[in-house]
Parts: sequence; structure tokens; C-alpha cells
Amino acid sequence: MSERKNEYEIIERPFGNLIGGNMRLRQLWTGAAWAEGPVYFRDGDFLLFSDIPNNRIMRFVPDQTGLEGTTSVYRQPSFNTNGHTRDREGRLISCSHGARCVFRTELDGTVTTLVDSFEGKRLNSPNDVVVKSDGTIWFTDPSYGILSDLEGHQGEPEYGGCHVFRLDPGNGSLTAVCTDFVKPNGLAFSPDEKLLYIADTGASHDPDGPRHIRKFEVRGDNTLAGGEVFATCDAGLFDGFRCDTDGRIWSSAADGVHCFDPAGTLIGKIHVPEVVANVCFGGAKRNRLYICGTTSLYAVYTHVNGAQTP
Ligand code: MG
Repeated sequence: MSERKNEYEIIERPFGNLIGGNMRLRQLWTGAAWAEGPVYFRDGDFLLFSDIPNNRIMRFVPDQTGLEGTTSVYRQPSFNTNGHTRDREGRLISCSHGARCVFRTELDGTVTTLVDSFEGKRLNSPNDVVVKSDGTIWFTDPSYGILSDLEGHQGEPEYGGCHVFRLDPGNGSLTAVCTDFVKPNGLAFSPDEKLLYIADTGASHDPDGPRHIRKFEVRGDNTLAGGEVFATCDAGLFDGFRCDTDGRIWSSAADGVHCFDPAGTLIGKIHVPEVVANVCFGGAKRNRLYICGTTSLYAVYTHVNGAQTP
């Protein structure tokens, strides 16, 4: 029997210690068509996130209260970016629907395309991305951005799948690490990088399709093993998600944010008034969970800290 306390649904008692009853969910800004891809810049104390259909990246700067802030356009056009992260040098890494690539923003502001093809064929529309501590860039490539002109440019899938890839930016080699997903989407490493979690949102276009997160073991040579279902979504789909320092998963879902312990047990939810697409931890202590919810940016302080990976 779960307990509701403001926005919080405590399904397993430990979740009650992760959230503070006084720490209310706040809507920080609204005005997006589809908010996605949050990434926090600790060095500048600001958050970037995508507004995919409006072809722009927004920037939220918190004010001194830590409760409100200002949001403005960071970059437009943005090549319809979706997911974001930062590499270990602090550079912004972006998934682009519009350019069907993963690109990097250099420290001088110029943009470098890191990868746009696999075996000579164009990528579909990279969706979400994470960088491992060895510098390798892992991203998902479902077809959402080319299905219509809404989130990019309508186009044909070329290589005949929706894979998960690992890019070595040192030598440019691209490896398909998973080829059995319907629509791979959000992904995150466990804090020790021994596990990689990847969402499959195949149910978006097939009611019988997957609506789960799978868990893979990451071997020393960066190949993956396992891949069993870690959690299945009971409200819509898991899109983007992040790990905290204790290895819990904080995932987007239709009714808000779902929190899973490392065993895959749903321990609680943060109910959000809009469908949530992605989350990331921010703030100087990485204890503020930023939430991209359809038209709005939300945030809530927690008693946990986000894993180091941005
Ligand atoms: Mg996504």
C-alpha cells in the first residue's frame, strides 16, 4: 500500500528518506513544445535543455534563492537537439535529430560533428547520450526524429535498425553494442560504470512493444553482456533517466518520475503534472533533480546526489 505525501508516492518505505516533505516540486519555466535533454553545468550553475520541435536549446539560470531563476534561449537553430551530456573535458555533447548526428561544442563555441553514419549509411536520429570515464561516447539511435518533420526532418532509416552505439572519439571508430532494441532511448551507467541501463520505448508505436529498461554488464573491453529487463513502466514509457550515487535509477514516465532501487524495485514516484521526458541532477551538490516535463521545466531538491556522470 503506497502512501501519498504531496507530490510524493512512497511505495517502499526507504523512498521516504530520499525526499523531503518540505521540498516541493516547482515549475521553473513553461513554454516549450517538447522539453528534453537536460544537462547541468556545475562550473556555471546553469542547466541546458532541448526544446526539440522549436529547434532550440534553452538555458535555465537559478537565482540566489535556489528556487526560481531565468530561462532564455541558448542556441537557435539547434539542429533539433535531443539528449545532452558533457564529456570529461566539460564539452557539451549533443544528439541531433535534424542533422542525424552526435556533435560536440568545443570550448571556443565551434561545433564538431563526431559521427553521422554507420557502415556508410546515415544514422536515424540520435536520441540520448552518455560519456564513460574513458572518454567513449555511448548513444541510442531510434527513428523518432525522422518519422515526421515535427522533431527534425522526415527521412528514411538507412542501416535497417535502431541500434545503441559506442563511439571512440580518439580514433572515430563506431561500434554497435546493441542491435536488438525496437526504440532504444535513455541510457545511464551505474556509478561504478560496471552496469549500463538502456530504455526501450518501442511501445510508442506498438502497444505490445517494449516499455522497459534493460540492464547490461559492461565488460573490461567495453562490450556488453546480459541485457535482462530491469524494470517495466507502469505509466507510459521510460524515456531519459539518471543514476544517483547509490545506484538508484530516477526515470521519466508519463505520471512523473519513478525511482528504482538497484534491484529493480519501484520504491517511489514524484508526481508531475505533465508527461516527463527526461531528468538530470544539478546544483553544486547534485542534489536538485531537474525534470523536463513536456512544456515545462520542473525541479525538486532531494536527499540523494546524482552520480558523477552529467
Ligand atoms: Mg529520449
